[in-house]
Amino acid sequence: MSNVKYVYTFGGKIAEGKADMKNLLGGKGANLAEMCLLGLPVPAGFTITTECCTAYYANNCQLPASLMADVWEGMKNVEKIMGLQYDNAENPLLISCRSGARSSMPGMMDTVLNIGLSSKTIPGLIKKTNNPRFVYDSYRRLIMMYADVVMEKAEGIEPTDGKGIRKQLDDMLDEFKHKKGYSVDTQITADELLELANAFKVRIKEVLGTEFPDDAKAQLEGGIKAVFKSWNGKKAISYRRIEGIPDDWGTAVNVQAMVFGNMGESSATGVAFTRDPATGDDKFYGEWLVNAQGEDVVAGIRTPNPLNDDTKNEQNKHLHSMQESMPDTYNELFNIRNILENHYRDMMDIEFTIQESKLFMLQCRVGKRTGRAAVKMASDMLRAGWITEKEAILRVPADKIIELILPILNPAIEKQHVACAKGLPAGPGGSVGKIALTSEKAMEYRAAKIANILVREETNPEDVEGMRAANGILTARGGMTSHAALVARGWGKSCIVGCSAVHINMEKGEVEINGKILKEGDTISLNGTLGNVYNADIQLIIPEIEKDDLYQEFMTIVDKYRKMGVRTNADTPKDATNAVRFGAEGIGLFRIEHMFYGEDGKEPLVKLRNMILANTTKERVAALNELEPFIRIAAKGTLKVMDGKPLTFRLMDPPLHEFVPQEEDKQIELAKEKGMDLAELKRRIDALHEVNPMMGLRGVRLGIVYPEITETQFRALFEATAELMKEGFNPQLEIMVPLTINVKELQHQKAIADRVLAQVEAKFGVKVDYKYGTMIEIPRATLVADEIAKVADFFSFGTNDLTQMTFGFSRDDVNKIVSEYTNQGIIPADPFNTLDQEGVGQLVQAGVQRGRFVKPNLKVGVCGEHGGDPASVEFFYKTGMTYVSCSPFRVPVARVAAAQAAINRGDENCECCCGCQSK
Ligand code: PEP
Ligand code: MG
Repeated sequence: MSNVKYVYTFGGKIAEGKADMKNLLGGKGANLAEMCLLGLPVPAGFTITTECCTAYYANNCQLPASLMADVWEGMKNVEKIMGLQYDNAENPLLISCRSGARSSMPGMMDTVLNIGLSSKTIPGLIKKTNNPRFVYDSYRRLIMMYADVVMEKAEGIEPTDGKGIRKQLDDMLDEFKHKKGYSVDTQITADELLELANAFKVRIKEVLGTEFPDDAKAQLEGGIKAVFKSWNGKKAISYRRIEGIPDDWGTAVNVQAMVFGNMGESSATGVAFTRDPATGDDKFYGEWLVNAQGEDVVAGIRTPNPLNDDTKNEQNKHLHSMQESMPDTYNELFNIRNILENHYRDMMDIEFTIQESKLFMLQCRVGKRTGRAAVKMASDMLRAGWITEKEAILRVPADKIIELILPILNPAIEKQHVACAKGLPAGPGGSVGKIALTSEKAMEYRAAKIANILVREETNPEDVEGMRAANGILTARGGMTSHAALVARGWGKSCIVGCSAVHINMEKGEVEINGKILKEGDTISLNGTLGNVYNADIQLIIPEIEKDDLYQEFMTIVDKYRKMGVRTNADTPKDATNAVRFGAEGIGLFRIEHMFYGEDGKEPLVKLRNMILANTTKERVAALNELEPFIRIAAKGTLKVMDGKPLTFRLMDPPLHEFVPQEEDKQIELAKEKGMDLAELKRRIDALHEVNPMMGLRGVRLGIVYPEITETQFRALFEATAELMKEGFNPQLEIMVPLTINVKELQHQKAIADRVLAQVEAKFGVKVDYKYGTMIEIPRATLVADEIAKVADFFSFGTNDLTQMTFGFSRDDVNKIVSEYTNQGIIPADPFNTLDQEGVGQLVQAGVQRGRFVKPNLKVGVCGEHGGDPASVEFFYKTGMTYVSCSPFRVPVARVAAAQAAINRGDENCECCCGCQSK
């Protein structure tokens, strides 16, 4: 025995572990121990710790020398409680080996059941149970799982023709049934099962080159190692990347006495949730199967029966429920459901087995749930006095609140379909519609009121109108901050980007998705929350939040604990109105250039192009004078919607070449429109060309090189404000300068503002109050933020550009590299999605501190995409941000995340102003 305790036993009503030991025992092990302590019927067993898994990997995939001795010691305890003996010819104990990490990773790691069956133990078990069919059924299952998990996957054997051993054995089983004319497994006789088991063993030797072990002890050791190995299986690694689970946590292994749901008609197995995980309703919800083992329920091999009346639906209502077939055992299970809910004060996901009418609990863990179910359960449990308001807020993953405001695919129907492809979940919510391969087609469909999904290789600004017209967007390329993603999120459209299984053939007007050809006009459905694409017409559900008491009441509690402000990024009255519905307290980013996109942007775009293509300052000023009213009207519309709430306009930022066509045919069209010589047009467009436009003439640099561009924008914004004031409104104008690198730039632009302001005030006879600020989005700016703060009334961190420039990653097309980096564990997550706190975060912190050093009350916000990411919001809260600003549909997410951040830091009762900067 070593000094390190690797094995923790449980069984009877005693356990060495308990629920709060998840880090060491994994979720499953800790809860098995807890269920024992609660006096529930749990088959005895022991848990091998996650520390042992870490030691196994640290030691070049060797089990610690002392482990197997500890295992056999633990086994004695199991044998005593169960009255059986492992590897005993007369009275054999069979065991299962199951994985169980700290944080549940459903189906991502491996399990082996029925370990301990061998030529030595099989005859005894047959004699004891008088049920050869059950024994041989268990044996063929052991062979199938063991070959797959222990002999193939754990050994790192890659199937030569892509067909793994499990699939080969499954095929043999199917062929056998087909030959015999059987429709279900239970028709196979005992002798036939033995025949199959023997055939399996021959195939295993042929394919894998080794014999299936006929020694119970070797089987157990192989099972333990294989579960540890499955921690680093492909599925498990991918899941950890998505969920942000660290690689070094490791999994525990639960070795537990087998109980059998496949012993005949009085035996069964099932899974259940103590409440409905889709709706949150207080209804016991589950599925079960008679004469089956657990994997049959979850693997979808057989259609499970409903647990009770509450679980019946169209597909399963003709099947017997457990409530009907085994009422006494059902009542016992229902009673356990109440004990567990009372104890954990949460919805639990349970697994059970009934062996010859005796109920056993095999697992319980906090159940996964939809966003609505999370809010419903937290609210119900709060009302019942089970949890506090703070606990209720922490119970709802901030990201999930979005599911209550976006149209979503009907989960019950979605469940019946299999996704045909998966991409990056760029814009959450659901959408269903006909495939449109061009923006024109999307607009045509919209005009005919036909729901459609724009499917493109990638999108560019010229697709904006098509994106607006589409109900959902699917692209083969692009990352989470790609243009398509950013715009789609802002509009609350479901959007999947970077879906590499999508191949478009424009000539044929079709899309190939994983081998399936779809035509323009065929219907597909998108689940933008998960990134799933379905080749099916799935019903949509549209939430009405004003009438949604559940949502409204929950968000009222959220705001009670929130300290940091939440604004939105919006540039139209419609988006602003929506954002206010979602709780936005202001606009943190109005990108002026967005007014040139889309149908409404056509007229101002003409003026803007005149300005861009002007040869002289005089021509440019003339074009700007024509443009100015458009900016004024656009600004005024949104200022009016936001009456009384702050609205930050950001001066034009993008490089000018983005507004002139790059394709030859569009250039010909433009030349014709302007009555210009094509060669001359090309010459002027070429003159705008830059090698690195995102590091070129954009942002404040535009206003330095062409001060008249700044002047026009200031005039439009001041006049819009003055007009509204005269009309009796209360506009709260804020203007910020993008891409600043030093204070001189700010002073330069401020001088223009001061001059124009004086003119406007004189013209309208009103005093226009406004705040003058800057974006902080270049690393240098964070370092000289103290100087910049001398002129700026506020800072707004543009973390998109700040991330781009800190990493030197292009935000538009670095997706491939970033996914390679995250897959290889070189960076933990996509830094454009969730703020890189280690690097970019330091710059943000430095910027805030330096700014506040000069102006202690400096208002500081964030308007990059990170403003709607819960983990980043928590970080921003800690840095003392006054507010975060995000796309309208993420406003509720940011509200919940900000409240959770305050609660987690114990600031919820603090009376200081925003951001709880007293800490
Ligand atoms: C940013 O860079 O974070 C930002 C908000 O500005 P934009 O995305 O428009 O560059
Ligand atoms: Mg920027």
